[in-house]
Amino acid sequence: MRLLIIDDEEDICDLIAEIGQRNGFETRTVSNAENVQNALGDFPPDVIMMDLMMPGMDGVELLRTLAEKAKAAQLCLVSGSDSRVLNGARRLGSAHGLNVVAAMEKPLSIANLDAFFKTAAANVKKNDGEDRGLAISNGEFSLYYQPVVGLSSREMKGVEALVRWNHPDKGILMPDAFIRQMANDGLMHSLTEFVIKASIRQAATLYAAGEHLTMSMNVTASTLLDLSLPDQISDICAQYNLPPEMLILEVTESEAMRDVTRTMDVLLRLRLRNIGVSIDDFGTGHASLSELQRMPFSELKIDKSFVTTAPTNNDQAVIAKSIIDLGHNIGLRVIAEGIEDERAWDLMREKGCDLAQGYFVGHPMPAQELATWMDAWRNKKG
Ligand code: C2E
Ligand code: MG
Ligand code: MG
Repeated sequence: MRLLIIDDEEDICDLIAEIGQRNGFETRTVSNAENVQNALGDFPPDVIMMDLMMPGMDGVELLRTLAEKAKAAQLCLVSGSDSRVLNGARRLGSAHGLNVVAAMEKPLSIANLDAFFKTAAANVKKNDGEDRGLAISNGEFSLYYQPVVGLSSREMKGVEALVRWNHPDKGILMPDAFIRQMANDGLMHSLTEFVIKASIRQAATLYAAGEHLTMSMNVTASTLLDLSLPDQISDICAQYNLPPEMLILEVTESEAMRDVTRTMDVLLRLRLRNIGVSIDDFGTGHASLSELQRMPFSELKIDKSFVTTAPTNNDQAVIAKSIIDLGHNIGLRVIAEGIEDERAWDLMREKGCDLAQGYFVGHPMPAQELATWMDAWRNKKG
């Protein structure tokens, strides 16, 4: 178990390290931003204790770095300032998808630290016992499919494949419960390989049955750095007689923008093979307009946080409308995810959004339920 301590006060670092070691952690201490990057590379931490305010280091920027490089780690924020700052940082960390498990005000108490490390160690061991690699080869992962329909036509247009883990003891687990850890275990590649193959196979089955539906799948930024990916996907499509234009690869806005130059290469090759690429969770990352225009996306998905709240929150509705117009202005098809009720449906349709996805339309479901669901949807429409 590895504990990374980010703090500039030497005696505090010593204290934290001592209590961490007592609880079975190997420790590393860093006191400046450059060393944080290095430490995350060669000492991937299970637990991070981080001081928000250190001279020469921007705590907000550091949270962003951690979100990119250490998402699976249990993070404890420490600060000498008041609890409002600490709570704000905690919310920001969570919004970045970080696993913020605690926040402590200085001066630190030995009893609190000790209790914290005991819980953290138990959590590390719980996750460690899990063999996620074996779970892949045991076939414990499967895909659920969520319908995507036209907002004005109400016609069925496609599905998004969402991974589930059929855990032998815990039942069906959602991606939030394991994707981070899989990335940390270095298993994203194997998982993505499974997702690509299984979703293409499913799309081909639908296609052969006369259902010409797009199949969207989620990939991570690291997948988009693999220059052989476009050929691999084309080959699998050929093997299953599926036209590649039925496929859409989704990457989140924050992931896509991490290394624009290198990602661009693969995106372009995918587009040249007629495979669609979608920018997911749009509005939560920080794509610049010029980057967005330069990158060869074919579709933009408005993050559900704007869509779900739009009917009751005018600010969110205004943002959603701006995103729709932005997408259209640069030639992208726009899809609203997280449509949970009729009001959100009506609002997104009025604002000119093209496609809809959300519980109001249909929940993600196993492949064998899709045919029945489509029949019901089409009957409801008529
Ligand atoms: P996403 O790609 O943005 O997928 C949409 C998520 O929103 C799904 O959660 C879906 O179940 C949920 N959702 C759909 N409609 C509604 C709605 O009306 N209201 C609300 N509140 N939520 C709705 P899920 O399946 O838990 O997946 C979460 C995230 O995990 C996905 O977000 C995606 O980023 C990631 N993920 C899922 N499958 C894969 C995969 O195969 N590979 C990778 N790398 N990531 C995946
Ligand atoms: Mg998605
Ligand atoms: Mg999304």
